[in-house]
This record gives sequence, structure tokens and C-alpha cells, in this order.
Amino acid sequence: MCRHLAYLGPPTTLSALVLEPSHGLLHQSYAPADMRGGGTINADGFGAGWYAPGGPDAVRYRSAVPIWSDTAFAALAGSTRSGAVLAAVRSATVGMPVTTTAAAPFGEGRWLFSHNGLVPGWPESVAGPAAELPVTDLLTLDAPTDAALLWALVRHRLRAGADPAAALAEVVTTVAAGAPGARLNLLLTDGATIWATAWSHALSVRVDAATALVVSEPTDAGPGWTSVPDRHLVVARPGHCSTRHLTPIPGAT
Ligand code: GLN
Repeated sequence: MCRHLAYLGPPTTLSALVLEPSHGLLHQSYAPADMRGGGTINADGFGAGWYAPGGPDAVRYRSAVPIWSDTAFAALAGSTRSGAVLAAVRSATVGMPVTTTAAAPFGEGRWLFSHNGLVPGWPESVAGPAAELPVTDLLTLDAPTDAALLWALVRHRLRAGADPAAALAEVVTTVAAGAPGARLNLLLTDGATIWATAWSHALSVRVDAATALVVSEPTDAGPGWTSVPDRHLVVARPGHCSTRHLTPIPGAT
């Protein structure tokens, strides 16, 4: 399973968020603590997205190599500051390609997205929801992976003006209904709010008046972390955190 992180708060370096914490994504790439049987390490690529001054759209850096071996990212991360960041390290699900474009974050405009988990029975189990997408969306998926399809399903709803929380909830419950046992921790930000789901995998939050962090695993041993109950959706920004139950579609497990 991949590990992911989203941050909103005072501008800080990517390094301070991703590389330097005692259990940041760099540490979680080779020593994750809560993989729940889904893989051992997260060495199949990584990525980070942030917002540069002067432009509304997110900027992304993605790579197919382990985060610990990318010296270009280490240099970039030490000198790049942002008040909104989404980053992930990847453990490719068996059968899925290890390519730059399969690494999160996926994105469009201001949106940044990551999936931590897997869809059993891929691709047949999601053929139904996928068939609702425009053919051009399917032809231009970032990669032939469950995560890229989940992003296309979320993006389709966002493009139509859906509320982001509703879009995530609908995609999670719809996909879970057709793929029992799916692990669907989704993470989404527009640079001002973080939306995330906990569906069969680990998720924690730490929110205070100035910052909001939503992470697969707490990035340090400090106080303030709250574990998100399974099958819940989180909406977080500095000074605000709300959690609500995700109701499975009847018949789904
Ligand atoms: N299953 C997805 C992939 O392989 C998501 C990554 C993960 O959580 N293992 O890209």
C-alpha cells in the first residue's frame, strides 16, 4: 500500500514535510509501520504536488524510483516552499506497472489526488463505473492502474461541479460495491481544503488553528494525532476538521 500526506498551513519546505520528519514519507518508504499486510515497503515511485506563488494551478514532481534514491528531489525539496502540499510514496499493486505516471499525485488545475489501497478483481470489478466515463478519459488515463482510474472517476465528478466530499464518497461506495475487500483511502486537495477517506486502511489527522495534516501514518511521535475510524470521510483545513461515516451501498462488503 502506498503512504500519503496532505498539508495546509504556513509555507514550509517540501523537505520539512516529506523528508525530515522522524516518520515522514521518506522513512515510511522503507520502514512503514501500518501496512496491514498490503506490501512491505514503498519503493515503486513517489510524488509531490504543491502550489507555486503567482499561479493557481498545482505543480507536480513524480518519479518511478524510490524516494530515497532521487537526489534531484532532495535538492528541490529543500528549496521549494508551499502552504499546501500533497505527497505520496508508492508500493505498486501486483500486476500494475511501475512508471512515473502511475505515481501520485494525480492532478488537474488546482486539484491534487492520491489513492492508498487496491481494487480487487481489477480491472473487471470496476468495468461498470469505468463505462460511465467519456471514452477520451479512458484513453488518456495516467496509467493502467486502479489509482489512475479512481482519479478519473473523481475528476469526472469534479468537472461536473460536484461537491468534493460527495464525489469521493460516491466513488468509494460505488467501487467498493463492485469490488468487495477494496481498500480505498483517497486523498484530495485544492490547496485550501483537504478531503480524505478511510476505507480499510490507516489514516490520521492533526489539525490546529494554523495547520492541517492528513496522513496514512503519523509523521512524528508528537501529540495531537487522531486516528480516523474506518469507513469515514474527513474534511480538514486549519482550524477545522469534520468526520462523517461513509454508508456502504447495500449488498457491498
Ligand atoms: N494500487 C495502487 C497502485 O498500485 C495504489 C498504490 C498502493 O496503495 N499500493 O498504484
